Amino acid sequence: MLREVSKSELESFPALEWEEISRRITPEVRSSLERVLEYQDGATLSLDQSYALANADGDDLLGLLVAANMLRAELAGNIVTYVVNRNINFTNICFVGCKFCAFSRGPREADTYFLTLDQMAEKTIEAWQLGASEVCIQGGLPRNLPKYHYRDILRAVKKAVPQMHIHAFSPMEIVYGVELTGMPLADYLSMLRENGLGTLPGTAAEILDDEIRHILSANKLTTAQWIDVIRTAHRRGIRTTSTLMYGHAETPAHWVRQMRLLREIQSETGGFTEFVPLGFVHQNTILFQQGLSRTGPTLAEHLKVHALARILLAGSINNIQVSWVKLNRQLSQLCLHAGANDYGGTLMEENISREAGATAGQYTSPEDFQNLILEIGRIPAERNTTYSRINIKVPLDEYTAEQAFEAEFA
Ligand code: SF4
Repeated sequence: MLREVSKSELESFPALEWEEISRRITPEVRSSLERVLEYQDGATLSLDQSYALANADGDDLLGLLVAANMLRAELAGNIVTYVVNRNINFTNICFVGCKFCAFSRGPREADTYFLTLDQMAEKTIEAWQLGASEVCIQGGLPRNLPKYHYRDILRAVKKAVPQMHIHAFSPMEIVYGVELTGMPLADYLSMLRENGLGTLPGTAAEILDDEIRHILSANKLTTAQWIDVIRTAHRRGIRTTSTLMYGHAETPAHWVRQMRLLREIQSETGGFTEFVPLGFVHQNTILFQQGLSRTGPTLAEHLKVHALARILLAGSINNIQVSWVKLNRQLSQLCLHAGANDYGGTLMEENISREAGATAGQYTSPEDFQNLILEIGRIPAERNTTYSRINIKVPLDEYTAEQAFEAEFA
């Protein structure tokens, strides 16, 4: 019988050596991990082997975390990237009613807001002046949105700052835009791209299983629709992130199936830039209040999901992101030891997780990110949205020329 691993063991796992922990783990888990470490490819694991990793506990879990960290070092090196960006959640009015969402409001509630195109343009200019290279635009879905509103947002933002990368609109918003305009999905996406859309957030994925989706939100787009939006976007040259929300009503088997599905899409299109595990923030949600979810992820689950992603997505999606707004400082650093290599965005103005009860704050400055990364002995680097350009942020006087590398490269 496997023992449950303690909090202090989890907090100190980065000090463990593979030679030490690998002697203590069960032969099946050890052989799976050794296989992925050897081939650097999660596709070498069967479904059952993947399930066994997702259910690992005790020393097996510690072994999974250590192996994920080794694999991260081999596949992504010691650099931890982040992007300087601003979130613009342009409205909190939404008719969808996801039970895990504490951000949305009905149209008649007192604290609703709807940013005008001019206000969004101003926020973009401010962000650019503060050094942001990306704006991340998502919002609620208000009824009777002007037909071409998403296109008009892109036009307003691009007019304000033509160089700004626009990472915008969840697959749910894309489905709504298609409904509003009556355009075919592929044409709609092409129109958005022509008007300045750079990349699409792979949000609204939560768990890509319709039974679980129905518990989370009866009105949300289906698994098939999410896949269709993402595949079509990739084929139209719009890259996307990929996400998974964990810690609510799902099981470890859902994590495995979703990661394998993402691999499948990636092998067809190559369009995913990264994978972002999103810990469910339960406090102010109906899902939790109605007893439909657990109390968010445990420490073991946070670490396990990041590590599992590194292992199962090896050879497919190379960037595993820590969503720092959902985690505290120490936990985000631990996840970077458990397979992750990216800190996400600085996110001036983060509204969605804060409304749900997350306490990590609205903004982490680039300097804070650099310190958090240096504290764990890694190298901070600012990146662009698609990871095609990074700018290493190491204080040059503290490093030899060899350690500092080139200051900037593409
Ligand atoms: S998650 Fe998005 S679609 Fe769902 S209720 Fe919240 S704002 Fe609306």
